[in-house]
Amino acid sequence: MPRPILATIHTQALRNNLALARRAAHDARVWAVIKANAYGHGIERVFEGLRGADGFALLDLNEAQRVRDLGWRGPILLLEGAFELRDLELCSRLDLWHAVHCDAQIDMLAAHKTNVPQRVFLKMNSGMNRLGFAPERYRSAWTRLNALPQVDEISLMTHFSDADGPGGVAAQMAVFFAMTHDLPGERSLSNSAATLRHSVDPALVAAQPDGQVVSDWVRPGIALYGSAPDFPEHTAADWGLQPSMTIAAKIIAVQAISAGARVGYGSSFTAPSDMRIGVVACGYADGYPRICPTGTPVLVDGVRARTVGRVSMDMITVDLTPVPQAEPGSVVTLWGTAANGAVLSIDEVAACAHTVGYELMCGLTSRVPVEVAA
Ligand SMILES: *Cc1c(COP(=O)(O)O)cnc(C)c1O
Repeated sequence: MPRPILATIHTQALRNNLALARRAAHDARVWAVIKANAYGHGIERVFEGLRGADGFALLDLNEAQRVRDLGWRGPILLLEGAFELRDLELCSRLDLWHAVHCDAQIDMLAAHKTNVPQRVFLKMNSGMNRLGFAPERYRSAWTRLNALPQVDEISLMTHFSDADGPGGVAAQMAVFFAMTHDLPGERSLSNSAATLRHSVDPALVAAQPDGQVVSDWVRPGIALYGSAPDFPEHTAADWGLQPSMTIAAKIIAVQAISAGARVGYGSSFTAPSDMRIGVVACGYADGYPRICPTGTPVLVDGVRARTVGRVSMDMITVDLTPVPQAEPGSVVTLWGTAANGAVLSIDEVAACAHTVGYELMCGLTSRVPVEVAA
């Protein structure tokens, strides 16, 4: 028998979350961001749920190839653009649009031999200081690109550093619009947090020239997968987002222990009273964070319970006090949706691990079998 652990990808949740991002973005087109193998879900496994998007955005050329192999003929955007000259050949062959964030990428385009000009997204560094041209250099980059026969339409792009928090987007928006207001081309600005939180932000609307939409193309990633970009200020449920990934494993042993007995490596948990402990077939080698302390929430048969003691490679231990009927074979949901409909948000577990839902999704390991549900 295979080890009793399973990841489930929920196609209907992906559809729900995509529709929600689309509504939040008003009339903008939606890039479904599926980098990092669709945030750990598997590109092939999310494709059905996300094929209603207007395009797919990612970083790896081999991932772009996989999207074409699935039969997708619509737009695909390389968010970091080409890494070397021969990537542009693949862009021509697969008809990929690509970001241009530095001079070296313009040099590559100038050296690229093609009869079919390419659609590019020129990226401005509007304050995050990761990728993109500095605002004062943006227009000269645009002019240089615009003169190249290898380049078709130029779209304008930037990325927000603080859309999920109190910093907001107004300062970066102001920089972006000051430098681009009279340039032609479509705009792409918003990640999930900006799409959900700021598409109706009055400061942002005020920063725009009349009649211009916030973003012609929004770029939600994390929201599509049912994690709140601004947890704990908002939960996924607050936004109406549904988990697209469930990790569930079975109890493989139960220990009835007495008050004072200890559990697991390092004996870090001491039972305050007689209790039953369920041993669950999921550990850090499956992607469950080892750092999760005693008290991290789980669902046992759909009922909220907590972990006790240290996470080990292949097992975790849970306090069965709230679920006295639990026994070997009972299903424990580590995050996602239980059979009774109860939800444990990945964001709650991530917070216990001092990280974000993104990292937990991406960290699912290859030994966990994955099933796609309708
Ligand atoms: C990853 C990424 C996104 C999506 O961000 P989320 O926070 O997951 O919505 C959007 N734009 C760029 C450039 C990215 O790299």
